Amino acid sequence: MTKRAVIPDPVLDIEQIRKDFPLLQTPVYGKPLVYLDNAATTQKPQVVLESLYNYYTRYNSNVHRGVHFLSQQATEAYEQARKKVAGFINARHEHEIIFTKGTTNSINLVASSFGKKFLQPGDEVLISAMEHHSNIVPWQMICEERGAALKVIPINEQGELRMEAFDELLTGKVKIVAVTYISNSLGTVNPIAEIINKAHAAGIPVLIDGAQAIQHVPIDVRELDADFFAFSGHKIYGPTGVGILYGKEEWLNEMPPYEGGGDMIKNVTFAKTTYNELPFKFEAGTPDIAGGIVLGTALDYVQQIGITAIRRAEEELIQYAYNRLSAISSLRFIGDAGHRSGAISFLVGDIHPFDMGEILDKQSIAVRTGHHCTQPVMDFFNIPGTVRASFAFYNTRSEVDLLVEGIEKAKRMLM
Ligand code: PLP
Repeated sequence: MTKRAVIPDPVLDIEQIRKDFPLLQTPVYGKPLVYLDNAATTQKPQVVLESLYNYYTRYNSNVHRGVHFLSQQATEAYEQARKKVAGFINARHEHEIIFTKGTTNSINLVASSFGKKFLQPGDEVLISAMEHHSNIVPWQMICEERGAALKVIPINEQGELRMEAFDELLTGKVKIVAVTYISNSLGTVNPIAEIINKAHAAGIPVLIDGAQAIQHVPIDVRELDADFFAFSGHKIYGPTGVGILYGKEEWLNEMPPYEGGGDMIKNVTFAKTTYNELPFKFEAGTPDIAGGIVLGTALDYVQQIGITAIRRAEEELIQYAYNRLSAISSLRFIGDAGHRSGAISFLVGDIHPFDMGEILDKQSIAVRTGHHCTQPVMDFFNIPGTVRASFAFYNTRSEVDLLVEGIEKAKRMLM
């Protein structure tokens, strides 16, 4: 395996941090892996892997049901994890934290439950043109069911929300606004505090898709005054299969259950069922117990490093990547927002993104190519897809240099 020099990071000891991640030490095609697909999923630190192993080897048991020792231990650890999540995003109450399968599941829960209760024919749901499919399709489905209309805040050529259009779209018909904090395909950071303030001034609640934000920026749901905030465990160094819906108590209490089954009930007869209190009303069936507990471990890990230090390191790295990529002739950025985080999308000459992805892959550089589950964004730019490099705090400047070399090589081969 050839050794690559790691340029020391000015903010965090990245070289040391990288040792926490076994997969970052695992070669691909005999060369060190350059993992730049963090917006799709992040790699997992050793403590997270150990936490999973510990759960299944030491206290695997079902939660909230058993009086026996193991069940009590599992329940305690699971509820402790809920507490950690509440602390991590500064929720007022632990029961405002609902364990779900991930961002997609969290948004489906709100769209379905909120929609059934609050959407009437003629009402509107307002999303944006840069949403991931998981913040489009659930709303389309419930709008169709309820006779409501889906409205879309447009974007400009830089891939930023057109806020003057948002002001106009924010009419009395809108019952909920659902927008992403950070775009997964463009890297745009949206002005969500402004969006929430304006929506609230009009008496409208806001759901924030935090899938690309939770791992990059500090989140304080109380300061933001978000009504709902959704994210996935696997994008913040935790496991797949678990995610979070934060919802304000007053909304969650008003909303009907999303799914029926065990745990979400107080009393069942064939004549009538009464529902459990928050958060259990929205947690039917055996949850991903291990996933919840291990997500708590992942959040501990992030907190230990510090999300503010992570943000600083990533901002510097992204600026470096942006500068280096800007110098490549015939490379154009797709989305060039003033405020960006996480991902950089681009195309080079007329090279198809898939071909670029394949050539980079053979150099052990993992990037994403395609529409990134944001087809309307691709339609807006009239392109089939992009090449997306997405960063985590464990990425280095030397990895960016390798990406640049890889792109130059692909250019020599294909242009
Ligand atoms: N929203 C955004 C902005 C995303 O980037 C993603 C995943 O990439 C999702 C939602 C869906 O997340 P998940 O597939 O973990 O449910």
